[in-house]
Amino acid sequence: MRVVDMHCDTIYEIYKGRKKGEDMCLRRSSLHLDLEKMKRGDYGLQNFAIYVHLKRTQDPFRQAGEMIDTFYQEMEANQDLISPVTSYKEIEANWNQNRMSAMLTMEEGGVCLGDVRLLRNFYRLGVRMMTLTWNFPNELGYPNRTVLEGPEKGCYPDTEHGLTETGLEFLDEMERLGMIIDISHLNDAGIRDVFRHTARPLVASHSNARALASHPRNLTDEMIRCLGERGGVAGINYYADFLHDWKPGESKSSRLSHMVSHMKHMKQTGGIGCVGLGSDFDGFGGAVELRDASCLPLLEEEMKRQGFLPSEIEAVFHGNVLRVYKEILS
Ligand SMILES: [Zn+2]
Repeated sequence: MRVVDMHCDTIYEIYKGRKKGEDMCLRRSSLHLDLEKMKRGDYGLQNFAIYVHLKRTQDPFRQAGEMIDTFYQEMEANQDLISPVTSYKEIEANWNQNRMSAMLTMEEGGVCLGDVRLLRNFYRLGVRMMTLTWNFPNELGYPNRTVLEGPEKGCYPDTEHGLTETGLEFLDEMERLGMIIDISHLNDAGIRDVFRHTARPLVASHSNARALASHPRNLTDEMIRCLGERGGVAGINYYADFLHDWKPGESKSSRLSHMVSHMKHMKQTGGIGCVGLGSDFDGFGGAVELRDASCLPLLEEEMKRQGFLPSEIEAVFHGNVLRVYKEILS
């Protein structure tokens, strides 16, 4: 079954590796995802995220620019297998020729430095989806968790701090441009504001269901319902901590059965139309049953085993996400 995946961190890994002088490329590597593995796994479209760690980067805007260059260098070097897309028409053309597509996305709205002019320039460079935050506050809003010390020590979902005025201005501009708003990593209060302030379909590119794994990175049932009603999609994330609440002593590993349980829960809560894939490949470590991008047929088998119909598997593997792309990117 042809795969459309809304999130991976592979470009960041290649960028980081090259900075250390390693000879890394997108075509073949030891990473979760490379072009040869994607070909074996029957990929149609992969989103490649420009990710910036605000606390470890002196100049987020510069790093984003350098990473976008890494992306386009790889596209040029591998024209025989894949090409970058910025519109639904281009996706369709590649799809019909059985050629893979790559979409540029950003995972940290802070790279725009709170300036919509820079947002527009990233759009011009091909960025078609963006999370407002990663795991730090920025000019636009606040990340998913509040960390408390003292007697209430721990991580809690942040339900208090909504989007800033600049964040709301960014939403308007993203909707006007046709850049897909990605609510993954954003806090609960910010997600509430996004739903209030926008009208078009949204995505949570790589987030699971909080009812099954309580991490604040995951979506509440209410958010899943809203996403479904809006015609949006959540991409199932393969990272073990977002799939299950692990008890001490349990051997932590990302399991296919857990991934499909999240799909089932999302289907019951927001309808089958709101479920997609957002692997987070190369953005996490640890044991993973779905070893790399070549193994996607194993996920299809597990879905069949747990009672998903062929039409539902098709919707989750690509149909739902392509529906959103058709609406926003045409
Ligand atoms: Zn992420």
